[in-house]
Amino acid sequence: MRDEHHRFSRQQLFAPIGEGGQIKLSEASVLIVGMGALGTVLANHMVRAGVGNLRIVDRDFVEWSNLQRQMLYDEEDARHSLPKAIAAKHKLERIYSGCRIDAHVSDVTPGNIGELMDGVTLVLDGTDNFQTRYLLNDACFQKGIPFVYGGAVSSRGMSAPFLPGDTCCLRCLLPESAGDGDGQTCDMIGVISPIIDIVASFQVVEGLKILVGDLERVRRSLLSWEIWDYHTYEMKLPAPRPECPSCGRREFPALQEGGSDVAMMCGRDTVQIQGKRPLDLELWKLKLQDAGEVSANPYLLRVQLIEGERLVLFPDGRVLVQGTEDPIRAKTLYARYIGM
Ligand SMILES: [Zn+2]
Repeated sequence: MRDEHHRFSRQQLFAPIGEGGQIKLSEASVLIVGMGALGTVLANHMVRAGVGNLRIVDRDFVEWSNLQRQMLYDEEDARHSLPKAIAAKHKLERIYSGCRIDAHVSDVTPGNIGELMDGVTLVLDGTDNFQTRYLLNDACFQKGIPFVYGGAVSSRGMSAPFLPGDTCCLRCLLPESAGDGDGQTCDMIGVISPIIDIVASFQVVEGLKILVGDLERVRRSLLSWEIWDYHTYEMKLPAPRPECPSCGRREFPALQEGGSDVAMMCGRDTVQIQGKRPLDLELWKLKLQDAGEVSANPYLLRVQLIEGERLVLFPDGRVLVQGTEDPIRAKTLYARYIGM
């Protein structure tokens, strides 16, 4: 315990945290959804700050193009195509062994969000799409869990904290019609790493205030940055809208949606198909050996198909069809090799 005391001494000397705040951090349970650029910075800060329990969720695996900004990963992780949640867990455990890290290689859906949020005191947004953000927002406002939004693309970013029962929610601030769908994603127009660190760091500041119980000082505004030409903009959060389907009418539309089994991964030349059954990778390695060149690690199986596309199978039943943006083509290949 003396080691722990020494370890966090600089943070405990910071009066708004203090020893009391440090104890609260050690008892906290934080969920980070998405372990890409924002998620890796968020997790790094949370673990170094001494958060006791961290749950991380990501559906993807480490690729070379991630290394420019996804700060927990290295060339080994990319070479072995490790799932991000697993690679991040390994790295985070080396940073602070006192944090219990619960890693999930999975999509976040209306079907599993309840379980993922079980026992959680704070949710940090590391996602790259509004569909998942609205889902997190609705689940947080239903359960009364604080949620800190962050997003970054190109040299621009935004962040806002939301406190159920106090502030408005993400839907009040950015209605669904104003969400993405304009093709302005990191995969289309790129992103530079400093904007990631800025956005995630501001998310972490609000997260720490929430975790140590300094709720009065939580910033009640949307901050946005453009860092190449340098502009910054701050907008006070509007009052909760009584007609908001989430925080007002409490209908939580994202939790009601059935969730499509086919998802486009924008700009990635990839279609994701969520199968109904788990996939036994050992078995599928044998089944697919004539379909093309097969390679595997304990977390995923890849098949370079003779047709040219590539299949990536995950134990939770998901299959990525890489090399096409056409959902029909993806479904055809899925039907051909996995079966509907
Ligand atoms: Zn709302």
